Amino acid sequence: MADQQGLSIGGRTARSLVEEFGSPLYVYDGSVIERQYHRLADAFSEVKLRLLYAMKANSNIAILKKLHQLGAGVDAVSRYEVDTALRCGIPAEDILFTPNCVSFEEIVGVVDKGVLINIDNISVLEQFGQLYGDKPCAIRINPHIVGGGHAHIQTGHIDSKFGISIHQIRHVMRIVKAYNMRIEGLHMHTGSDILDAGTFIAAADVLFDLAVDFPDLQFIDFGSGFKVPYRPDDIATDVEQLGQKLSRRFLDFCSEYGRELELWFEPGKFLVSESGYLLTSVTVIKQTPSCVFLGTDSGLHQLLRPMLYDAWHTIVNAERTEGTERIYTVVGCICETDTLGADRRLVEAMEGDILAIRNAGAYGFAMASTYNSRPRPAEVLIESGEARLIRRRETLDDILALQGDVQEGVAG
Ligand SMILES: *Cc1c(COP(=O)(O)O)cnc(C)c1O
Repeated sequence: MADQQGLSIGGRTARSLVEEFGSPLYVYDGSVIERQYHRLADAFSEVKLRLLYAMKANSNIAILKKLHQLGAGVDAVSRYEVDTALRCGIPAEDILFTPNCVSFEEIVGVVDKGVLINIDNISVLEQFGQLYGDKPCAIRINPHIVGGGHAHIQTGHIDSKFGISIHQIRHVMRIVKAYNMRIEGLHMHTGSDILDAGTFIAAADVLFDLAVDFPDLQFIDFGSGFKVPYRPDDIATDVEQLGQKLSRRFLDFCSEYGRELELWFEPGKFLVSESGYLLTSVTVIKQTPSCVFLGTDSGLHQLLRPMLYDAWHTIVNAERTEGTERIYTVVGCICETDTLGADRRLVEAMEGDILAIRNAGAYGFAMASTYNSRPRPAEVLIESGEARLIRRRETLDDILALQGDVQEGVAG
């Protein structure tokens, strides 16, 4: 995707994007979002598939609307995500609320808007049954199947705070029976990085075994876990293979169950990660006794994953695609150890060059903060070669506005 003018994203050079919208800048290639959506939909074409976009990955409303137009519903984890989706015109029946450790009050507020809830603990299950009786809901199960991935993003293991343990199922059944509850869905989300179809199907079998005891099911929701490549040699989830194997297993289950159910997924990263780039400018090249730092105008406040999860994001010199490569440690401008990538080979950079950090579409801007009082970057979506500003750059005024008059403070 490179030529003499450097890296091109959706038909626009990184340089022209930064000249038009400034640096640092989040850029999303809409065609990649479409490609990923269709890839998943095609892989599961044999079953009644429903894709709910896990909007926490990237909650920009232009992306939300785009995915809804493509046919996705929304998986929301807070009342604010639910309200964002509703305000985008996404109907309540296209939203699933999958919160963890939120107050019962928050749950009631969302459920009263007509949104289906995915219940994640026994306490809420009991309160929901008492208050709503047979109003439909879903149950989030922790099957204790552990996939790959970084320790912070596995949710199936025994210490996880997510879901109701499979070992508590008898108590679940007691509550469901006592309040005559209508369980329309069973759900699991085992973790963020699952590599092989085998692990997925092992967890699926746990849900199938349970499902026969729930006569009102409409769907089984397998959460997410789709891994996308971050490093050049990373293994990605083979969605075509997973689609074949899981669909077959699912249809077998449905004939056992006696009815064809819907198969749901809640992908976040898979749909948006590869569409996104964080463009950042080299501010300072600093040689130290240990390495050469490429200092940039971005940092952990705008892309937290490297520091939070030890995540690897490929970084390229977006201006020069050919030339001698050098080893750099790419860092941000935050007063904190703020490494975006250590010991990276990049085409020799000059101060002022633009770097592109790849796979920045998921958990990039969504996790950005104003740490060091730095306003958050703008976001741009490219569709059919047209770059559209989908969030203006934040300003210091935006940040200070919440604190009232600068002289007087909020109380003034
Ligand atoms: C975060 C999350 C997802 C999405 O995970 P990805 O790895 O981004 O695909 C799906 N479902 C639930 C309940 C989540 O919390």
